[in-house]
Amino acid sequence: MKIQILVLCLLASSAFSASHHPILIVVSYDAFRYNFFDTKLVPNMERLKFNGTYSDYLVNVFPTKTFPNHHSIATGLYPEVHGVIGNTYVDQKSLKVVKMGFEMYNYSNDVIPIWRWNEDQGDGRHSATMMWPGADFPYQGKNITYRQSFNASVDWFSRVDTLISWLTNSEKPANLVMFYIEEPDTHGHAFGPNSNTVHELLQKLDNVTAYLEKKLEEHKLTEKANVIHLSDHGMISVTPPYFINITQYIKNGTYEWAGATPCIQITPNAGYEDNIYNSLKEASVTNGHFKVYKKEDYLKRWHYKKNPRSPPILIMADEGYALDDLIVAAPKYAKFYNFTLTNTSEFGVHGYDNDVVDMHPFFMARGPRIKLHHRVTPFSTVDLYNLFTEILRLPARANNGSMGNIVDILVDGGGRYGVGVGVVVGGVLLALIIVGLAAGLTLYIIKVRQNIRTAAALNKRFPQTFQNSGIEAQHLLESEDVQA
Ligand SMILES: [Zn+2]
Repeated sequence: MKIQILVLCLLASSAFSASHHPILIVVSYDAFRYNFFDTKLVPNMERLKFNGTYSDYLVNVFPTKTFPNHHSIATGLYPEVHGVIGNTYVDQKSLKVVKMGFEMYNYSNDVIPIWRWNEDQGDGRHSATMMWPGADFPYQGKNITYRQSFNASVDWFSRVDTLISWLTNSEKPANLVMFYIEEPDTHGHAFGPNSNTVHELLQKLDNVTAYLEKKLEEHKLTEKANVIHLSDHGMISVTPPYFINITQYIKNGTYEWAGATPCIQITPNAGYEDNIYNSLKEASVTNGHFKVYKKEDYLKRWHYKKNPRSPPILIMADEGYALDDLIVAAPKYAKFYNFTLTNTSEFGVHGYDNDVVDMHPFFMARGPRIKLHHRVTPFSTVDLYNLFTEILRLPARANNGSMGNIVDILVDGGGRYGVGVGVVVGGVLLALIIVGLAAGLTLYIIKVRQNIRTAAALNKRFPQTFQNSGIEAQHLLESEDVQA
Protein backbone atom coordinates (compact mmCIF):
# COMPACT_ATOMS: atom_id res chain seq x y z
CA MET A 1 0.00 0.00 0.00
CA LYS A 2 2.84 2.35 0.93
CA ILE A 3 4.47 1.64 -2.43
CA GLN A 4 1.19 2.40 -4.17
CA ILE A 5 0.96 5.69 -2.33
CA LEU A 6 4.52 6.49 -3.31
CA VAL A 7 3.77 5.73 -6.96
CA LEU A 8 0.63 7.86 -6.76
CA CYS A 9 2.65 10.62 -5.23
CA LEU A 10 5.32 10.48 -7.88
CA LEU A 11 2.66 10.61 -10.56
CA ALA A 12 1.07 13.58 -8.87
CA SER A 13 4.39 15.33 -8.42
CA SER A 14 5.15 14.94 -12.08
CA ALA A 15 2.07 17.04 -12.77
CA PHE A 16 2.22 18.70 -16.12
CA SER A 17 0.13 21.33 -17.71
CA ALA A 18 -0.40 21.95 -21.33
CA SER A 19 0.74 25.54 -20.76
CA HIS A 20 4.32 26.19 -19.73
CA HIS A 21 3.17 29.37 -17.98
CA PRO A 22 1.77 29.56 -14.44
CA ILE A 23 -1.89 28.55 -14.38
CA LEU A 24 -4.63 30.46 -12.58
CA ILE A 25 -8.31 29.60 -12.31
CA VAL A 26 -10.62 32.15 -10.66
CA VAL A 27 -14.04 30.85 -9.67
CA SER A 28 -16.80 33.30 -8.73
CA TYR A 29 -19.98 32.08 -7.03
CA ASP A 30 -22.41 34.99 -7.33
CA ALA A 31 -23.69 36.20 -3.92
CA PHE A 32 -21.86 33.57 -1.87
CA ARG A 33 -21.77 35.44 1.45
CA TYR A 34 -18.60 35.21 3.55
CA ASN A 35 -20.32 33.24 6.30
CA PHE A 36 -22.21 30.68 4.21
CA PHE A 37 -19.54 28.27 5.43
CA ASP A 38 -21.33 28.39 8.78
CA THR A 39 -24.22 26.44 7.23
CA LYS A 40 -21.91 23.38 7.19
CA LEU A 41 -23.40 22.55 3.79
CA VAL A 42 -20.15 23.02 1.86
CA PRO A 43 -17.69 20.47 3.30
CA ASN A 44 -15.57 20.25 0.15
CA MET A 45 -15.18 24.02 -0.03
CA GLU A 46 -14.45 24.13 3.68
CA ARG A 47 -11.71 21.53 3.32
CA LEU A 48 -10.11 23.52 0.51
CA LYS A 49 -10.44 26.68 2.54
CA PHE A 50 -8.53 25.35 5.52
CA ASN A 51 -5.98 23.50 3.40
CA GLY A 52 -5.00 26.63 1.49
CA THR A 53 -5.13 30.34 2.31
CA TYR A 54 -8.32 32.19 3.17
CA SER A 55 -9.55 35.44 4.65
CA ASP A 56 -12.60 35.76 6.88
CA TYR A 57 -14.15 37.96 4.20
CA LEU A 58 -13.36 40.32 1.32
CA VAL A 59 -14.13 44.04 1.38
CA ASN A 60 -15.96 44.51 -1.90
CA VAL A 61 -16.57 47.70 -3.86
CA PHE A 62 -19.52 50.07 -3.78
CA PRO A 63 -22.24 49.47 -4.85
CA THR A 64 -22.28 45.81 -3.80
CA LYS A 65 -23.74 44.75 -7.13
CA THR A 66 -22.62 42.07 -9.56
CA PHE A 67 -21.25 43.95 -12.56
CA PRO A 68 -19.27 46.65 -10.70
CA ASN A 69 -17.69 44.04 -8.43
CA HIS A 70 -16.79 41.53 -11.12
CA HIS A 71 -15.14 44.27 -13.12
CA SER A 72 -13.18 45.45 -10.07
CA ILE A 73 -12.01 41.87 -9.50
CA ALA A 74 -10.90 41.70 -13.14
CA THR A 75 -9.22 45.12 -13.33
CA GLY A 76 -8.11 46.10 -9.81
CA LEU A 77 -9.96 49.38 -10.33
CA TYR A 78 -12.77 51.08 -8.43
CA PRO A 79 -16.07 51.59 -10.27
CA GLU A 80 -15.39 55.33 -10.61
CA VAL A 81 -12.26 54.35 -12.56
CA HIS A 82 -13.47 51.40 -14.65
CA GLY A 83 -16.84 53.01 -15.32
CA VAL A 84 -19.17 50.10 -14.55
CA ILE A 85 -20.97 51.97 -11.78
CA GLY A 86 -24.04 49.74 -11.56
CA ASN A 87 -25.81 46.85 -13.21
CA THR A 88 -27.42 49.63 -15.24
CA TYR A 89 -26.78 53.38 -15.40
CA VAL A 90 -28.13 56.49 -17.10
CA ASP A 91 -25.88 57.95 -19.77
CA GLN A 92 -25.67 61.54 -18.61
CA LYS A 93 -25.54 62.95 -22.15
CA SER A 94 -28.25 60.98 -23.94
CA LEU A 95 -30.24 60.27 -20.73
CA LYS A 96 -30.61 56.74 -22.03
CA VAL A 97 -30.50 53.78 -19.64
CA VAL A 98 -27.49 51.62 -20.47
CA LYS A 99 -27.75 47.91 -19.69
CA MET A 100 -25.20 45.09 -19.84
CA GLY A 101 -23.45 45.40 -23.19
CA PHE A 102 -20.44 46.70 -25.06
CA GLU A 103 -21.24 50.35 -24.28
CA MET A 104 -21.18 49.66 -20.54
CA TYR A 105 -17.74 48.03 -20.69
CA ASN A 106 -16.25 50.16 -23.46
CA TYR A 107 -15.41 52.97 -21.06
CA SER A 108 -11.70 53.56 -21.55
CA ASN A 109 -8.83 51.86 -23.34
CA ASP A 110 -6.87 52.22 -20.11
CA VAL A 111 -9.13 49.63 -18.47
CA ILE A 112 -7.48 46.30 -19.17
CA PRO A 113 -9.04 43.21 -17.57
CA ILE A 114 -6.69 40.48 -16.45
CA TRP A 115 -7.68 38.16 -19.31
CA ARG A 116 -6.65 40.79 -21.90
CA TRP A 117 -3.45 41.64 -20.02
CA ASN A 118 -2.44 37.99 -19.77
CA GLU A 119 -2.74 37.41 -23.51
CA ASP A 120 -1.01 40.70 -24.29
CA GLN A 121 2.19 39.31 -22.80
CA GLY A 122 2.35 36.75 -25.61
CA ASP A 123 4.70 33.76 -25.61
CA GLY A 124 1.80 31.32 -25.77
CA ARG A 125 -0.31 32.77 -22.97
CA HIS A 126 -3.99 32.14 -23.60
CA SER A 127 -6.93 33.42 -21.58
CA ALA A 128 -10.40 31.96 -21.19
CA THR A 129 -13.60 33.36 -19.70
CA MET A 130 -16.53 31.15 -18.76
CA MET A 131 -19.60 33.43 -18.52
CA TRP A 132 -17.66 36.06 -16.55
CA PRO A 133 -19.67 39.33 -16.47
CA GLY A 134 -18.10 41.84 -18.84
CA ALA A 135 -15.94 39.31 -20.67
CA ASP A 136 -18.12 39.09 -23.76
CA PHE A 137 -16.62 42.17 -25.33
CA PRO A 138 -13.32 43.03 -26.98
CA TYR A 139 -10.91 45.18 -24.98
CA GLN A 140 -8.41 47.36 -26.81
CA GLY A 141 -10.19 46.05 -29.89
CA LYS A 142 -9.14 42.45 -29.35
CA ASN A 143 -10.83 39.25 -28.24
CA ILE A 144 -9.18 36.51 -26.22
CA THR A 145 -8.69 32.88 -27.23
CA TYR A 146 -11.60 31.23 -25.36
CA ARG A 147 -14.91 32.74 -24.33
CA GLN A 148 -18.30 31.36 -23.37
CA SER A 149 -21.14 33.90 -23.00
CA PHE A 150 -23.59 33.68 -20.11
CA ASN A 151 -26.02 30.85 -20.69
CA ALA A 152 -27.85 29.51 -17.65
CA SER A 153 -28.86 26.38 -19.53
CA VAL A 154 -25.26 25.14 -19.60
CA ASP A 155 -24.89 22.83 -16.62
CA TRP A 156 -22.19 23.84 -14.14
CA PHE A 157 -20.44 20.50 -14.43
CA SER A 158 -20.32 20.92 -18.21
CA ARG A 159 -18.79 24.34 -17.67
CA VAL A 160 -16.01 22.65 -15.71
CA ASP A 161 -15.50 20.12 -18.51
CA THR A 162 -15.14 22.96 -21.03
CA LEU A 163 -12.78 24.81 -18.75
CA ILE A 164 -10.57 21.72 -18.50
CA SER A 165 -10.61 21.33 -22.29
CA TRP A 166 -9.30 24.89 -22.60
CA LEU A 167 -6.52 24.23 -20.09
CA THR A 168 -5.46 21.06 -21.87
CA ASN A 169 -5.84 22.16 -25.47
CA SER A 170 -2.78 20.82 -27.24
CA GLU A 171 -2.29 23.85 -29.49
CA LYS A 172 -3.52 26.78 -27.44
CA PRO A 173 -3.62 25.79 -23.78
CA ALA A 174 -5.18 28.42 -21.53
CA ASN A 175 -3.14 29.53 -18.54
CA LEU A 176 -5.89 31.79 -17.14
CA VAL A 177 -9.56 30.89 -16.75
CA MET A 178 -12.20 33.16 -15.21
CA PHE A 179 -15.18 30.96 -14.25
CA TYR A 180 -18.56 32.41 -13.21
CA ILE A 181 -21.53 30.66 -11.59
CA GLU A 182 -24.79 32.62 -11.18
CA GLU A 183 -25.84 31.00 -7.91
CA PRO A 184 -26.78 31.34 -5.11
CA ASP A 185 -27.68 34.80 -6.43
CA THR A 186 -30.46 33.94 -8.86
CA HIS A 187 -32.59 31.78 -6.58
CA GLY A 188 -31.42 33.79 -3.57
CA HIS A 189 -33.23 36.87 -4.90
CA ALA A 190 -36.49 34.97 -5.18
CA PHE A 191 -36.36 32.95 -1.95
CA GLY A 192 -33.93 34.78 0.33
CA PRO A 193 -30.50 33.63 1.49
CA ASN A 194 -31.91 31.67 4.45
CA SER A 195 -34.17 29.47 2.34
CA ASN A 196 -33.98 25.73 1.85
CA THR A 197 -33.66 26.47 -1.86
CA VAL A 198 -30.43 28.39 -1.32
CA HIS A 199 -29.19 25.77 1.11
CA GLU A 200 -29.67 23.05 -1.48
CA LEU A 201 -27.87 25.18 -4.03
CA LEU A 202 -24.94 25.59 -1.67
CA GLN A 203 -24.65 21.80 -1.60
CA LYS A 204 -24.72 21.68 -5.37
CA LEU A 205 -22.05 24.37 -5.60
CA ASP A 206 -19.96 22.37 -3.17
CA ASN A 207 -20.20 19.40 -5.50
CA VAL A 208 -19.13 21.53 -8.46
CA THR A 209 -16.09 22.65 -6.48
CA ALA A 210 -15.24 19.02 -5.76
CA TYR A 211 -15.79 18.14 -9.41
CA LEU A 212 -13.36 20.84 -10.50
CA GLU A 213 -10.72 19.48 -8.12
CA LYS A 214 -11.38 15.95 -9.34
CA LYS A 215 -10.98 16.96 -12.98
CA LEU A 216 -7.78 18.86 -12.27
CA GLU A 217 -6.46 15.76 -10.56
CA GLU A 218 -7.42 13.53 -13.50
CA HIS A 219 -5.45 15.80 -15.81
CA LYS A 220 -2.49 16.01 -13.45
CA LEU A 221 -3.06 19.70 -12.95
CA THR A 222 -3.65 19.72 -9.19
CA GLU A 223 -0.09 20.65 -8.33
CA LYS A 224 0.25 23.05 -11.24
CA ALA A 225 -2.94 25.10 -11.11
CA ASN A 226 -3.55 27.92 -8.65
CA VAL A 227 -7.27 28.08 -7.93
CA ILE A 228 -8.93 31.08 -6.30
CA HIS A 229 -12.54 30.80 -5.12
CA LEU A 230 -14.40 33.99 -4.30
CA SER A 231 -17.61 35.93 -4.66
CA ASP A 232 -18.75 39.42 -5.62
CA HIS A 233 -21.02 40.21 -2.66
CA GLY A 234 -23.24 38.73 0.03
CA MET A 235 -27.02 38.98 0.39
CA ILE A 236 -29.62 39.64 3.10
CA SER A 237 -33.28 38.83 3.46
CA VAL A 238 -36.00 41.49 3.10
CA THR A 239 -39.76 41.00 3.53
CA PRO A 240 -42.61 43.08 1.98
CA PRO A 241 -43.37 45.20 5.07
CA TYR A 242 -39.90 46.66 4.56
CA PHE A 243 -40.46 47.70 0.95
CA ILE A 244 -40.49 51.50 0.51
CA ASN A 245 -42.31 53.19 -2.36
CA ILE A 246 -40.05 56.15 -3.07
CA THR A 247 -41.50 57.14 -6.45
CA GLN A 248 -44.61 58.40 -4.67
CA TYR A 249 -42.47 61.33 -3.54
CA ILE A 250 -41.39 62.52 -6.98
CA LYS A 251 -43.38 63.46 -10.05
CA ASN A 252 -43.50 60.90 -12.84
CA GLY A 253 -41.78 62.07 -16.02
CA THR A 254 -39.35 64.42 -14.30
CA TYR A 255 -36.42 62.03 -13.95
CA GLU A 256 -34.64 58.92 -15.25
CA TRP A 257 -33.97 55.99 -12.97
CA ALA A 258 -31.35 53.23 -13.12
CA GLY A 259 -29.81 50.64 -10.87
CA ALA A 260 -31.82 48.39 -8.61
CA THR A 261 -32.84 48.10 -5.01
CA PRO A 262 -31.47 49.08 -2.53
CA CYS A 263 -29.30 51.55 -4.46
CA ILE A 264 -31.14 53.66 -7.02
CA GLN A 265 -29.59 56.23 -9.35
CA ILE A 266 -31.78 59.25 -10.11
CA THR A 267 -31.08 61.67 -12.95
CA PRO A 268 -33.53 64.60 -12.79
CA ASN A 269 -34.67 66.18 -16.03
CA ALA A 270 -33.33 69.69 -16.63
CA GLY A 271 -34.95 72.17 -14.29
CA TYR A 272 -36.12 69.56 -11.78
CA GLU A 273 -32.81 69.01 -9.97
CA ASP A 274 -33.60 70.93 -6.79
CA ASN A 275 -37.24 69.93 -6.72
CA ILE A 276 -36.48 66.22 -6.87
CA TYR A 277 -33.60 66.33 -4.43
CA ASN A 278 -35.59 68.38 -1.88
CA SER A 279 -38.65 66.12 -2.17
CA LEU A 280 -36.57 62.97 -1.68
CA LYS A 281 -34.58 64.50 1.16
CA GLU A 282 -37.74 65.50 2.98
CA ALA A 283 -39.23 62.04 2.43
CA SER A 284 -36.10 60.34 3.72
CA VAL A 285 -36.40 62.27 6.97
CA THR A 286 -40.10 61.47 7.30
CA ASN A 287 -39.69 57.80 6.39
CA GLY A 288 -36.41 57.33 8.21
CA HIS A 289 -35.31 54.20 6.35
CA PHE A 290 -33.51 55.45 3.29
CA LYS A 291 -30.92 58.10 2.55
CA VAL A 292 -30.50 60.52 -0.35
CA TYR A 293 -27.17 61.86 -1.59
CA LYS A 294 -26.21 64.52 -4.10
CA LYS A 295 -23.22 63.62 -6.23
CA GLU A 296 -20.98 66.08 -4.41
CA ASP A 297 -21.88 64.41 -1.13
CA TYR A 298 -20.99 60.84 -2.13
CA LEU A 299 -18.71 59.31 0.47
CA LYS A 300 -15.06 59.36 -0.50
CA ARG A 301 -14.53 55.76 0.55
CA TRP A 302 -17.13 54.65 -2.00
CA HIS A 303 -14.82 55.70 -4.87
CA TYR A 304 -17.97 56.35 -6.83
CA LYS A 305 -18.07 60.08 -7.47
CA LYS A 306 -15.33 60.79 -10.00
CA ASN A 307 -17.00 59.40 -13.07
CA PRO A 308 -19.23 61.07 -15.66
CA ARG A 309 -21.59 58.10 -15.43
CA SER A 310 -22.16 58.64 -11.70
CA PRO A 311 -25.71 59.92 -11.21
CA PRO A 312 -26.59 63.37 -9.80
CA ILE A 313 -28.65 61.75 -7.02
CA LEU A 314 -28.34 58.40 -5.28
CA ILE A 315 -30.97 56.80 -3.06
CA MET A 316 -29.79 54.13 -0.63
CA ALA A 317 -32.21 52.07 1.43
CA ASP A 318 -31.15 51.21 4.97
CA GLU A 319 -30.01 47.67 5.58
CA GLY A 320 -33.05 45.39 5.60
CA TYR A 321 -35.16 47.69 3.41
CA ALA A 322 -35.90 47.61 -0.32
CA LEU A 323 -37.33 50.01 -2.88
CA ASP A 324 -39.87 50.22 -5.70
CA ASP A 325 -38.34 47.75 -8.11
CA LEU A 326 -38.77 44.94 -5.61
CA ILE A 327 -42.40 45.97 -5.11
CA VAL A 328 -42.74 45.28 -8.85
CA ALA A 329 -40.56 42.17 -8.93
CA ALA A 330 -41.94 40.35 -5.85
CA PRO A 331 -45.27 39.31 -7.42
CA LYS A 332 -43.38 38.30 -10.57
CA TYR A 333 -41.19 35.98 -8.52
CA ALA A 334 -44.28 34.57 -6.79
CA LYS A 335 -45.92 33.87 -10.13
CA PHE A 336 -42.81 32.46 -11.76
CA TYR A 337 -41.91 30.17 -8.87
CA ASN A 338 -45.52 29.45 -7.97
CA PHE A 339 -45.61 30.56 -4.36
CA THR A 340 -48.07 32.75 -2.46
CA LEU A 341 -46.75 36.21 -1.73
CA THR A 342 -47.27 37.14 1.93
CA ASN A 343 -45.81 39.63 4.37
CA THR A 344 -43.37 36.98 5.54
CA SER A 345 -42.12 36.05 2.05
CA GLU A 346 -38.35 36.56 2.05
CA PHE A 347 -36.46 38.06 -0.87
CA GLY A 348 -32.71 38.35 -1.24
CA VAL A 349 -31.17 41.80 -1.60
CA HIS A 350 -27.64 43.12 -2.07
CA GLY A 351 -26.23 46.46 -3.18
CA TYR A 352 -26.03 48.18 0.20
CA ASP A 353 -23.02 50.13 1.39
CA ASN A 354 -19.88 48.01 1.24
CA ASP A 355 -19.34 48.51 4.96
CA VAL A 356 -22.45 46.40 5.66
CA VAL A 357 -20.98 43.13 6.96
CA ASP A 358 -23.52 40.86 5.25
CA MET A 359 -22.58 42.33 1.88
CA HIS A 360 -19.11 40.84 2.18
CA PRO A 361 -18.05 37.94 -0.04
CA PHE A 362 -15.52 35.20 0.73
CA PHE A 363 -12.01 34.45 -0.48
CA MET A 364 -9.95 31.29 -0.49
CA ALA A 365 -7.14 29.95 -2.67
CA ARG A 366 -4.90 26.98 -3.12
CA GLY A 367 -2.10 26.00 -5.45
CA PRO A 368 1.67 25.99 -5.85
CA ARG A 369 2.01 29.71 -5.14
CA ILE A 370 -0.42 29.71 -2.22
CA LYS A 371 0.45 29.14 1.42
CA LEU A 372 -0.94 26.07 3.14
CA HIS A 373 -3.23 26.23 6.18
CA HIS A 374 -3.02 29.98 6.30
CA ARG A 375 -5.40 32.81 7.19
CA VAL A 376 -4.79 36.35 6.00
CA THR A 377 -6.24 39.68 7.08
CA PRO A 378 -9.33 40.62 5.03
CA PHE A 379 -8.38 42.71 2.02
CA SER A 380 -10.12 44.53 -0.82
CA THR A 381 -11.54 43.22 -4.04
CA VAL A 382 -9.33 45.71 -5.91
CA ASP A 383 -6.23 44.00 -4.45
CA LEU A 384 -7.02 40.78 -6.32
CA TYR A 385 -5.62 42.04 -9.62
CA ASN A 386 -2.19 42.26 -8.02
CA LEU A 387 -2.58 38.72 -6.74
CA PHE A 388 -3.50 37.54 -10.25
CA THR A 389 -0.54 39.26 -11.92
CA GLU A 390 1.79 37.97 -9.24
CA ILE A 391 0.61 34.37 -9.67
CA LEU A 392 0.72 34.65 -13.47
CA ARG A 393 4.11 36.36 -13.28
CA LEU A 394 2.93 39.27 -15.39
CA PRO A 395 4.24 42.83 -15.20
CA ALA A 396 2.34 44.98 -12.71
CA ARG A 397 -0.13 47.47 -14.08
CA ALA A 398 -1.21 50.59 -12.25
CA ASN A 399 -4.37 49.88 -10.30
CA ASN A 400 -6.22 50.82 -7.11
CA GLY A 401 -5.11 47.76 -5.18
CA SER A 402 -2.25 47.27 -2.78
CA MET A 403 0.46 44.67 -3.27
CA GLY A 404 1.13 44.80 0.46
CA ASN A 405 -2.31 43.37 1.18
CA ILE A 406 -1.78 40.18 -0.79
CA VAL A 407 1.87 39.22 -0.30
CA ASP A 408 1.03 37.17 2.78
CA ILE A 409 -1.01 34.82 0.56
CA LEU A 410 2.01 33.78 -1.50
CA VAL A 411 4.56 31.16 -0.55
CA ASP A 412 7.46 33.29 -1.72
CA GLY A 413 6.20 36.41 -0.03
CA GLY A 414 5.18 37.90 -3.33
CA GLY A 415 8.64 38.70 -4.63
CA ARG A 416 7.82 39.43 -8.24
CA TYR A 417 9.49 36.76 -10.29
CA GLY A 418 10.99 35.49 -7.02
CA VAL A 419 12.06 31.91 -6.48
CA GLY A 420 9.37 29.82 -4.82
CA VAL A 421 10.15 28.30 -1.46
CA GLY A 422 9.39 24.86 -2.86
CA VAL A 423 12.31 25.13 -5.25
CA VAL A 424 14.89 25.59 -2.52
CA VAL A 425 13.58 23.00 -0.10
CA GLY A 426 15.98 20.06 0.18
CA GLY A 427 15.18 16.85 -1.68
CA VAL A 428 14.61 14.73 1.40
CA LEU A 429 12.23 17.21 2.95
CA LEU A 430 10.39 17.60 -0.34
CA ALA A 431 9.95 13.84 -0.64
CA LEU A 432 8.49 13.70 2.88
CA ILE A 433 6.05 16.48 2.04
CA ILE A 434 5.03 14.79 -1.20
CA VAL A 435 4.36 11.48 0.55
CA GLY A 436 2.22 13.27 3.10
CA LEU A 437 0.34 15.14 0.38
CA ALA A 438 -0.21 11.97 -1.60
CA ALA A 439 -1.70 10.19 1.40
CA GLY A 440 -3.99 13.14 2.04
CA LEU A 441 -4.81 13.33 -1.65
CA THR A 442 -5.81 9.68 -1.78
CA LEU A 443 -8.16 10.09 1.18
CA TYR A 444 -9.46 13.30 -0.38
CA ILE A 445 -10.18 11.65 -3.75
CA ILE A 446 -12.12 8.88 -2.00
CA LYS A 447 -14.16 11.47 -0.12
CA VAL A 448 -14.77 13.60 -3.22
CA ARG A 449 -16.03 10.61 -5.17
CA GLN A 450 -18.54 9.92 -2.42
CA ASN A 451 -19.78 13.50 -2.42
CA ILE A 452 -20.12 13.77 -6.16
CA ARG A 453 -22.74 11.03 -6.12
CA THR A 454 -25.19 13.50 -4.61
CA ALA A 455 -24.68 15.87 -7.52
CA ALA A 456 -27.01 14.03 -9.85
CA ALA A 457 -29.84 14.30 -7.33
CA LEU A 458 -29.30 18.03 -7.00
CA ASN A 459 -29.18 18.45 -10.74
CA LYS A 460 -32.68 16.98 -10.91
CA ARG A 461 -33.83 19.35 -8.18
CA PHE A 462 -32.43 22.37 -10.04
CA PRO A 463 -32.90 21.94 -13.75
CA GLN A 464 -31.99 25.02 -15.73
CA THR A 465 -35.26 26.77 -14.97
CA PHE A 466 -34.40 30.04 -16.60
CA GLN A 467 -33.90 28.62 -20.04
CA ASN A 468 -37.51 28.90 -21.12
CA SER A 469 -38.72 31.55 -18.78
CA GLY A 470 -37.57 34.73 -20.43
CA ILE A 471 -36.04 35.61 -17.06
CA GLU A 472 -32.33 35.10 -16.70
CA ALA A 473 -30.27 36.15 -13.75
CA GLN A 474 -31.84 38.66 -11.40
CA HIS A 475 -29.42 41.35 -12.44
CA LEU A 476 -30.71 41.03 -15.96
CA LEU A 477 -34.30 41.25 -14.69
CA GLU A 478 -33.70 44.32 -12.56
CA SER A 479 -33.47 47.03 -15.15
CA GLU A 480 -36.54 45.91 -17.01
CA ASP A 481 -38.59 45.96 -13.83
CA VAL A 482 -37.31 49.36 -12.93
CA GLN A 483 -38.50 50.68 -16.25
CA ALA A 484 -41.90 49.07 -15.89
ZN1 LIG B 1 -23.67 39.19 -7.92
